[in-house]
Amino acid sequence: MEASRDRIFPIEDALEMIIMFDGAGKVAYANAAARQKLEYEDDLRGIHISNIFPNTFQETEELTDEKCMTDSGLKNLVAYRKNHTCFPVEARITHGDDAGKNMYICMANDILKKEYLSREVERVREEAQQALKVKSEFVANVTHELRTPVNGILGNIREMLDREWDEQSQKQLHLIERCCDDMNKIINNILDFSKLEAGKFTLEPRKFHFRNMLDYVKGNHINKITEKGLEFFMTVSPRVPEYVIGDELRIVQILNNLLSNAQKFTALGKITVEVLRTAQMDGRTELFFIISDTGIGIDKSDRDKLFQSFSQVDASISRKYGGTGLGLNICKQLVELMGGRIEVESKKNKGSTFSFSIWVETCGEDTDSHPMQDSRKSLYRLDSMEDGGKRAEDVKSFGTQDNKEALKRNLSKLILCVEMENWEKAEMFMETVRQLTEEAPHEVKRVVLRLKMAIQKENYDKVTAEFEQLNHYL
Ligand code: ADP
Repeated sequence: MEASRDRIFPIEDALEMIIMFDGAGKVAYANAAARQKLEYEDDLRGIHISNIFPNTFQETEELTDEKCMTDSGLKNLVAYRKNHTCFPVEARITHGDDAGKNMYICMANDILKKEYLSREVERVREEAQQALKVKSEFVANVTHELRTPVNGILGNIREMLDREWDEQSQKQLHLIERCCDDMNKIINNILDFSKLEAGKFTLEPRKFHFRNMLDYVKGNHINKITEKGLEFFMTVSPRVPEYVIGDELRIVQILNNLLSNAQKFTALGKITVEVLRTAQMDGRTELFFIISDTGIGIDKSDRDKLFQSFSQVDASISRKYGGTGLGLNICKQLVELMGGRIEVESKKNKGSTFSFSIWVETCGEDTDSHPMQDSRKSLYRLDSMEDGGKRAEDVKSFGTQDNKEALKRNLSKLILCVEMENWEKAEMFMETVRQLTEEAPHEVKRVVLRLKMAIQKENYDKVTAEFEQLNHYL
């Protein structure tokens, strides 16, 4: 091929720079892009390739395939313009021949913009990471600082509660105490969340008595659960070791969160906890926890966003039940730190089952007389939820014996709370009454609604009037 512009016309207008040079390094042809980019107004023909790529070639040497790196594909080179300024290129050099003459073809792209942009992307990424770090540190510091005054108030209130007060003052002090407890819970959640986000969270494993830990968790919730008239069952497989090494505090935190939710979102039926041993490897054991309730359930479409931070299923739920929407996200991150995963199965208005696995170390003295693992399949069923769901359904059917008894029980608890001016608890029983009368005739539902509004307004007289009215209908 004769290296004339006319004959190689298609490459003359290519966007890529194309330069042909012979074995002695003499340029035989350069297309328009090369002439323009390298700022040779006339032709490049005749100049030595080392003028364009001085870092790669020398004028004195004979060029070989090896020297031209014909086998190494795309490489980053620096191309020099006629005025000795330079820019980066991505180039490929291949070997050809032109009428028996040794010829090399260099195809190069100017990557100045690309390099600039990737440096810019890197800079922005670093800035964003730095900002995230600063934000997480700020949140961690502020929440840590907030803890001190809240605990100060709490300590003083508890001391004051030890003294004699009239009924009204006692009530107010208890209210302040509960507000401080709630605030502490929120602060702790934000603190954990920001530490987890910043990757600064470390687990603190130590040996502990597994069933004692479960008893402690049960103790935290049993009163609230039974007060609501719910049943509670906890079963632990005999294969679960007596002692394990793990972060007890964090396991308690996950269970507390899931049980608080179960209790919060269940008005009728039961809550169950099951613990199984599902795998064993190198002195480590996988424990599997299943927490089921027969509560309001979660729509399929909402389930995906459940474990995201600050996510609550809908605004009306957060207004009614409170919460920050951080709990499940923290649970997920903690479970993953412990080598496991968390899942949810749920049916709207039937209930939810949250399950999670974690890996713990077993202690030397754990004499497991049952080397087999619990079969997840045989034990992990939604039956319990279905059973509870069915029974909850019976109780919900307005007019049935179960429904009548549940209504009577919950209404008497409700009026007791109203008499003691415990409006928050009264609202809780009100929700159960509302669910128990969902299938009732309109006139009953209207009174229930009025009763509910009176409770929300904390209007004692109106509540007792509506209560009488409701009793009359029932
Ligand atoms: P929060 O602190 O607001 O309860 P979570 O992350 O623990 O935050 O829960 C997020 C949302 O998931 C809740 O607001 C609720 O809508 C839904 N949810 C969690 N557990 C249950 C459950 N057992 N039954 C029904 N909905 C639930």
